Amino acid sequence: MYTFHSLIDGEWQAGTGEAFATFNPAAPDETVGTYRATSADGIGAALDAARLGQARWAAYPPAERARLLNRFLDAVEQQTEAIAHAVTLEQGKPLAEGRGETGKALREARFMAGEAVRSHGGVVPAQKPGCRNMVLRRPRGVIAAITPWNFPVLTPMRKIAPALAHGNAIVLKPSELTPAAACLIAEAARGILPDGVMQILQGGGSVGGALVSDRRVHGVTFTGSVATGKAIYAAAAGSLAELSLELGGKNAVVINDTDDLDGCLDQVVGAAFQCAGQRCTAISRVIVAAGMHDAVADGLRARAEAVVLGSGQDPATTMGPLINREQLERVAGFVDRARAEGAAVLTGGGHARVEACPGGHFYQPTVLTDVTPGMEAAREEIFGPVLTVTPYRDFDQALSILNDVDYGLTSSLFSNDAALIQRFLDESDNGMLHVNHGTVPDDHMPFGGIKSSGVGAYSVGPSAVQFYTTEHSAYVKQAGG
Ligand code: NAD
Repeated sequence: MYTFHSLIDGEWQAGTGEAFATFNPAAPDETVGTYRATSADGIGAALDAARLGQARWAAYPPAERARLLNRFLDAVEQQTEAIAHAVTLEQGKPLAEGRGETGKALREARFMAGEAVRSHGGVVPAQKPGCRNMVLRRPRGVIAAITPWNFPVLTPMRKIAPALAHGNAIVLKPSELTPAAACLIAEAARGILPDGVMQILQGGGSVGGALVSDRRVHGVTFTGSVATGKAIYAAAAGSLAELSLELGGKNAVVINDTDDLDGCLDQVVGAAFQCAGQRCTAISRVIVAAGMHDAVADGLRARAEAVVLGSGQDPATTMGPLINREQLERVAGFVDRARAEGAAVLTGGGHARVEACPGGHFYQPTVLTDVTPGMEAAREEIFGPVLTVTPYRDFDQALSILNDVDYGLTSSLFSNDAALIQRFLDESDNGMLHVNHGTVPDDHMPFGGIKSSGVGAYSVGPSAVQFYTTEHSAYVKQAGG
């Protein structure tokens, strides 16, 4: 059982906020963690500590910041098993996925630690004689970070590492459904990073809302749903804080032609059903050339039916439960309405009973065919293990189906046709573009989306500097010149 409260200026403080608990999605009667929400006073104290901590941290030479960050990451790495277990217990995903998530979080964070000592400015030729022009960057200041429940290690680390590498302090509020992993990360930092550099708040939307609307915040980074992203956009307007929003997706794979249909479908199904489909980068739409439709549908069904549902702690499990009953009912509602709109359920389509996990929030891996682009299931983010299959006649139609949704996070094309690949790279309206593989991103590439999937700079990779620092144009004229 985990018990954590708010980390403020290097100390865990219980405060006076409301108590809440987390539960194992595979065995919902089992309490996993008990926490206490951060009170308004606690939020204020965390922001004041962050302001002072940031001033001290920014004064460290960047190479020293990178060294300390790497020591902190070593400490997190040593806790990999404990963190992966916390992820599985609160979020439900298989332990192997919890380990994989922790490993990826560390690899991304190590790249970001290196960013502390890479060049981010420049020297620009001057218009005026005797003048030297430079573009300089400084830490932005106090960063407020709000994260969702589907990646309890990766999303907090995607904010902590770039914020600290670039000389900021962070005030992080993890999801109230899965806070344990972020608390274990913060615990690993104690004694390595100076106090005040990282604070952890606890609680739900009201704590998040109070944090992002506070004038002591200079930048707000959020990962979560579009609806919450819009609320945060509005809340941050009061202080004109800089924003980086990473929101939902309705990601598609276009299967036009492939030499290796089995390999292609393995990747599609992996991208669709990992984390029980509760990933912003999950593939949820298969848009397939009409001539390949039946082979693709059959292959997807076989793979969906081979999925082993169970507790994430059972090594035989390949897909865990959904996060909670609300999410289970939400996913079931999407599938029921798709049926009513005329979609066919090729496989799955209902709650799953797992004998060893009575009451667990399991949903069957589901493949829907006869899905037309206007149907709700083809347009809205389901955030569950549901794939829709839609055939197309020609590539113009494929691109039009691909792009005719509000979202624009990630996309994938399977084809060996150079002209089509070129068109996909130019015309797929998504932040991330994959050709002949699934949607798993590299550790050092910019990660983010366009349209309703994101606002502002991408989160990791070299371009994160745009959010985590401010830009300054400097003009230096030689004295007497
Ligand atoms: P959510 O928007 O419900 O909650 C996310 C976080 O915001 C939680 O910590 C929550 O407490 C907090 N919050 C809620 N209301 C708030 C408010 N008014 N002000 C400030 N904070 C508030 O999202 P979720 O259900 O936890 O996560 C699922 C969503 O996250 C999906 O839409 C998914 O696509 C998206 N997601 C996106 C990415 C990405 O990188 N693009 C990654 C993971 C998840």
